Order: sequence, then structure tokens, then C-alpha cells
Amino acid sequence: MTILDGKKVSNDIKNEIAAEVQKIKDKGEKVPHLAAIIVGNDGASLTYVGSKVKACERVGFESTLVQMSNTTSEVELLEKIKELNENPEIDGFIVQLPLPPQINEQKVLLAVNPDKDVDGFHPTNFGKMALDMSTFIPATPFGILELLDRYGVETKGKHTVVIGRSHIVGRPMSILMGRKGFPGNSTVTLTHSHTKNITQITSQADIIISALGVPNFLKAEMVKDDVVIIDVGITRVTDETRPRGYKIVGDVDFANVSKKASYITPVPGGVGPMTIAMLLKNTLLARERHNI
Ligand code: NAP
Repeated sequence: MTILDGKKVSNDIKNEIAAEVQKIKDKGEKVPHLAAIIVGNDGASLTYVGSKVKACERVGFESTLVQMSNTTSEVELLEKIKELNENPEIDGFIVQLPLPPQINEQKVLLAVNPDKDVDGFHPTNFGKMALDMSTFIPATPFGILELLDRYGVETKGKHTVVIGRSHIVGRPMSILMGRKGFPGNSTVTLTHSHTKNITQITSQADIIISALGVPNFLKAEMVKDDVVIIDVGITRVTDETRPRGYKIVGDVDFANVSKKASYITPVPGGVGPMTIAMLLKNTLLARERHNI
């Protein structure tokens, strides 16, 4: 069994990006600049955005954090997005989800200039992805592709089962695994909460990508020998033995499933760090596109 070490691979990618930034600096050009908007005080969201800003510093990007209060109106947020769309200093930006209930998420995603949409959530970019055109691939699916690629995991002709159909992970992952190319060329089954007899489906899978957010959902008896497991789930579970009072767990019963798997991502240290590295990669790409 091989661990798909997202921590190591994401560090490699960050080093590669830092080397690119150094070349840009040596030429006296403007370094990539990522902005992040966060609305409200959700603890997990603040942690994620904080890690993104820290990652920017580490590779030599400029970063801007826009913090808006929990009572921000939709109009105020759309104004801020317009400002970032029009600011030539900013190469790409993200709006951290979830948003407070008074704000329509779809309206917000549609307002982001697709050329700066480094999260790849705008319908223009999602459509381009589905049509195999060059675009920003959402960071988590992009990170999973990169992990499969760097470990040389064969995907052609394999049966890939994706669990969860969210717009940010499951749905794009199902499209990407079925596309022509590598990683891709899989036969894909997309499952969700209405799927019947899921064990019957997962036990036929060569590759399982689990993104549902239910701790220890995928058990050893649900998978076949030599399966490849990508665990996207991140759930905070109370753990009084830890100083912060919780631990992070994935969707997969790692201790038992890993005994049957050929490759498996740990949680933490698997898909999570890859997501941030690929956001940086998309920002570098955005800068290159703006400079063509
Ligand atoms: P989500 O919006 O939370 O949706 C969960 C999906 O799981 C839905 O499609 C739901 O089906 C499906 N589902 C729920 N119960 C199920 C069941 N019993 N059997 C099969 N499918 C079931 O999804 P998400 O935003 O992709 O998040 C999923 C997990 O990934 C969360 O733990 C999240 O924190 C984590 N995540 C991690 C990263 C990372 O960087 N590692 C990034 C994003 C998300 P319906 O559509 O029918 O409701």
C-alpha cells in the first residue's frame, strides 16, 4: 500500500511555484497577487483563508485579505467583487464559502470575472472544463488529478466511483475522471444521498473518490482489494485529548480500508494541502494569462 502524500507533493508544488516567482522577480516583473474575501467569523473559514494567505507568503505572492462583517449585504459584497474585478494589481481572487444567508451564493459566483476566478467556480470556467478547454480547474479536483498524476496511478479503463455531487468537488471530479486524457479515461459512477445499494457500487470500484463529509463512512467491507482511495472529507470531531479540543477526520475508515488499498490518501495530509497548492497554481496561471 502506498500513501498518496499530499503534504509532500504540495510542498514540491509550492517549491516549483516559488522558483517561478523568483524568475518573475529576477526579470523585474510584478509577482502574482491573490485576494480573498471572507464574510463573517466562521472559525473553519477563517482557518482556511489564513492558510491560503500564509501559502501566498511562502511562495512569494502578494496577497490581500478582505474581511467583511457577518451583516454585509449582497449589494456591498457585489460592490467589493466589482472593485477586485477592475483592480489591475489583482490577478485572481476567491470568495470564501459559505456565505451568510442574506447573500445569494450563485449571484456572487456569477459576479466574479472568469479571468480572475481562480477557484474555477464560474459557469464559464466550469463549462470550459467540461468541454476539455484550457481553464481554471477547481482547486480540490485539480489537486486530486495532480496527486494521481505524480504517483502515476493508472486511471484509463478503470471504474471510478465518486461519492458526493457537490459543485466544488464531486461533480467536477466525475467530469474530469471521465474526460479523454490522463488522469481520466475512467468509467465513472457518480453517487449521492439517493443512491441505492452504495456498497454494491463501491465494491466494484477500482478508484473511489469520497467527498461527502461523513466520518468513517467508507468501511473495509465496502471496497475490493487493491482499490485506490481518495478521501476528500474533512470533519471536525470533538477530541478532548487535543489542546484545540477537536481532531480532523475523513470519510474513510483509514485503519481498516488502508489494509486493502493499493493507494490511499490520509486525512489530514492528503487532499487538503493539495487544494491550497493548486489555488496558488491557478493564480500563477491567471497572472500568465493577464500578461499574454
Ligand atoms: P457537500 O456540499 O457537503 O455535499 C455532500 C455530498 O455528499 C452531497 O452530494 C450528498 O448528496 C452526498 N451524500 C450525503 N450523504 C450521502 C450518503 N449517505 N451516500 C452518498 N452520498 C451522500 O460536499 P462538499 O462541499 O464536496 O464537501 C464534502 C466533504 O469534503 C466535506 O467534509 C468537506 O469539508 C470536504 N472538503 C474538503 C476539501 C479539501 O480541500 N480536502 C475541499 C472541499 C470539501 P446529495 O447531493 O443528494 O445531498
